[in-house]
Amino acid sequence: MTLLEMKVKTLNDKEGNLGGIHCPVCRDKGYIAFVKDGAMMTRACACMGKRESMRRIRRSGLLELLEAYTFDAFQTPEPWQKQAKERAMDFAANGWGRWFVVTGTPGTGKTHLCTAIAGAMLEAGREVRYMLWRTEAPRLKAMVNEREVYERELQALEGADVLYIDDFFKGSVSDGDLNLAFELLNSRYNSGGKMTILSSEKTVEELLDIDEAIGSRIYERSKGYCLKMPRKNWRLRG
Ligand SMILES: [Zn+2]
Repeated sequence: MTLLEMKVKTLNDKEGNLGGIHCPVCRDKGYIAFVKDGAMMTRACACMGKRESMRRIRRSGLLELLEAYTFDAFQTPEPWQKQAKERAMDFAANGWGRWFVVTGTPGTGKTHLCTAIAGAMLEAGREVRYMLWRTEAPRLKAMVNEREVYERELQALEGADVLYIDDFFKGSVSDGDLNLAFELLNSRYNSGGKMTILSSEKTVEELLDIDEAIGSRIYERSKGYCLKMPRKNWRLRG
């Protein structure tokens, strides 16, 4: 082993102090050293993408939910709950290029199942973006006049491996909402190999009524993974 190789090994063996997740490859330093053309170089470790995802998720407020809303924690006293959980787990395993859509009233476990899928994808090292519609849509619409910033933010959502849109079309729906939703969902509709998770209090029929172009894309991409939760609030039952 040359002196340079020893230096590289010593550096790679050192423990870093990046928090959040533990990476055995870079020992939580975020980079890996190597020798190239007689010099020591470093490259970013693959865990940096996951760390960036986690940082954004933490900022978005989804992190607390991720810890509580796992597949294991989803209770299934009734057959429809068992079925819903099975569909969600199947999607997490086989849903690339597909959309998982769950509709129904609050308290039926929509957020729980969607969050569990997002958590499984983060675990698998995928880039996950979280978009709470009622806060993110107004923020994006307010940016329309700063075209460059708007485009950059929108492209990040369009291009994410996994996009979880929570409470889609909550409340009244303006023309601005329709434009934003179409731009975002149409782009994801046209690009294969991504995963979109969408929860809404509105049913797919209602979404089709609001806007056929948007509703039909949701309908088509979520075949086999479109769950309509029963009206009954099962959490209130003893
Ligand atoms: Zn690493």
